Amino acid sequence: MKKSDSSWMDEELALFRDNVRKFIATEITPFEEQWDERQYVDRALWTKAGTAGLLGTDVPEEYGGAGGTFAHEAVILQEQARAGNTSWAKGVHEIVTHYIVGCGTPEQKKRWLPKLVSGEMVGAIAMTEPGTGSDLQAVRTRAERDGDSYLINGSKTFISNGHHAGLLIIVCKTDPASAAKGISLIVAEHPTTLPGFKRGRLLHKIGQKGQDTAELFFENLRVPAENLLGEREGQGFYQLMNQLPRERLIIAIGAIAAAEAALEHTLAYVRERKAFGKRLLEFQNTRFRLAERHTELTLGRVFIDHCLQRLIDGQLDAATASMAKWWCTQKQCEIVDECLQFFGGYGYMLEYPIARLYADARVQKIYGGANEIMKELIARTLD
Ligand SMILES: Cc1cc2nc3c(=O)[nH]c(=O)nc-3n(C[C@H](O)[C@H](O)[C@H](O)COP(=O)(O)OP(=O)(O)OC[C@H]3O[C@@H](n4cnc5c(N)ncnc54)[C@H](O)[C@@H]3O)c2cc1C
Repeated sequence: MKKSDSSWMDEELALFRDNVRKFIATEITPFEEQWDERQYVDRALWTKAGTAGLLGTDVPEEYGGAGGTFAHEAVILQEQARAGNTSWAKGVHEIVTHYIVGCGTPEQKKRWLPKLVSGEMVGAIAMTEPGTGSDLQAVRTRAERDGDSYLINGSKTFISNGHHAGLLIIVCKTDPASAAKGISLIVAEHPTTLPGFKRGRLLHKIGQKGQDTAELFFENLRVPAENLLGEREGQGFYQLMNQLPRERLIIAIGAIAAAEAALEHTLAYVRERKAFGKRLLEFQNTRFRLAERHTELTLGRVFIDHCLQRLIDGQLDAATASMAKWWCTQKQCEIVDECLQFFGGYGYMLEYPIARLYADARVQKIYGGANEIMKELIARTLD
């Protein structure tokens, strides 16, 4: 299957891709089953990735980063998807890193970024609460100023990297009487060591099983006031809105790459499997359906490349990122479902990568902003 060539790829990125592929083959793939069972990756994976230069590839060098661009991050996301790796929530870690890059004070950047880039700290962001997810303005977690600290009370759920989190951004209300303007982002460093912080269950999911997804509880969690992200209270909602295009593109890149992997697995299968004396690939139904999926994936790739270049140029707007997020994840789910059908009963067996791709895909339409919210954001630009 010929993939469309991405305009942003160059020789240096091709070499980088080889290194990422090797890292995943040696440090991740052999352990996936074990991580799936216990629902979290080895903590050491983060420091190994840091040492291998795979964290914060687009963080400025003055903060310990490699000074690359978002294209380096895209290469890693694509290689993770190609290998069927969803246990390592590196995308979330990088989203958190970029909150610090984009919203932190110079002192906060110096304090936290080198540790995020080395893997000494694992990043997590806690927005969703049991009572509210899509409607972020309705968060109830409260942060009250108490001398030189904030006292935080509330609870969060579905938090990726919640188990290993070393730097946790908590979305909370510093002014409960206000909606968007009452929200601030406050960082808890090494939260598990702090009194007032409790981690709940690791949540059982239908897919992405090796990725830790946790409930978190705060009961008078005391955090230094200097950990308020940025210069002043009430900026949280705007900080979130600024970073969301990046988060949405990260999801979209993974979606297209995972669907490409599904199509490759399927092609390998239908070339070999026989029914009624013919290879499955010889049935016109197979040929036409797979030709259609290949066409859709080519369109997806071209759109991703467009969005990626816009992000690198600082021009990716919220509506375009929302289009990428909903369309690519919708296509991922449709394509993986259709591919699975060609495997017959084997497609339902977890030992076949297509089954895992199917289970891992579903959540992509839900997190990072449900796809309905994406359409709402796009529709607002049509008014
Ligand atoms: C595996 C996993 C990992 C996650 N990781 C994180 C994380 O790291 N940090 C974090 O903060 N959160 C995380 N989440 C939470 C995720 O972002 C939320 O589940 C998501 O935003 C939806 O919120 P909700 O579950 O409260 O659904 P609700 O807000 O209750 O929405 C339910 C459904 O209602 C519909 N809906 C809602 N609002 C509208 C509307 N305005 N118009 C039309 N339809 C609407 C949509 O279909 C939506 O799916 C994760 C979730 C999962 C499952």
